[in-house]
Amino acid sequence: MARPRARAASREFTTEALLLRRVPTGDADDVVALFTERVGRVSAFTRGSRRSQKRFGGALEPLHTLRVHLEEHDGRELFTLKEATLARPRSVLLSQLDAMQAAGEALSWVRRATPARTPEPLLWQRLELFLDGLGQEGAATGRLLSAFGFGLLDAVGFGLLLGQCVVCGKPCPSGRRAQLDVARGGVVCQGCGGARIGVSAALRQRLVAAADGQLTVLLDEDTRLARELVELSLRLHAGVE
Ligand SMILES: [Zn+2]
Repeated sequence: MARPRARAASREFTTEALLLRRVPTGDADDVVALFTERVGRVSAFTRGSRRSQKRFGGALEPLHTLRVHLEEHDGRELFTLKEATLARPRSVLLSQLDAMQAAGEALSWVRRATPARTPEPLLWQRLELFLDGLGQEGAATGRLLSAFGFGLLDAVGFGLLLGQCVVCGKPCPSGRRAQLDVARGGVVCQGCGGARIGVSAALRQRLVAAADGQLTVLLDEDTRLARELVELSLRLHAGVE
């Protein structure tokens, strides 16, 4: 026998999460955007988070992996954050401005690139590795960030096609420069008219490896173009917000 459906039903669950954004609302509350391991990106209301540290214990900071207890309500977009604790603190990042900026940029990319309430296990894994990598001594933050960007695009299905022409499918000849058109989704061969952004064969290989999740594969000289390609791709697929 089917159980009668309760009105305003809700479910509670616990998951790991990263804080993407915190927006004050009312006198003492916040609405937070979280990227969670179990359900992807969600928005949640945090009652009293700015009045009392008790329930959240100062855990509502970016950079650290949190363990959050969430309540989901039928028919409502907004979850309720009941509790948050630090699961894997990354306090070492707080003393490094460039690492904090890189983490902030990566988290804003995640916020823009991910659909609401869709688990993204590969992206979750890559983001955790990236944040851990930023905390390592002597980390090359710019190189890590741009490589993470390519891994992110790949994980959410916005990856550029780098091995063959997006128009005719012809494989890129090895050892030759290729031309990229982000709006068309990747390499466009000469026969199909080419494109504005030229990349060397070696860089193309490094970008393929970065898209595959390798975080330390890009060189300093790659970072500017790689970040530009990530930004262009996100603007195209995910809007500017
Ligand atoms: Zn072609």
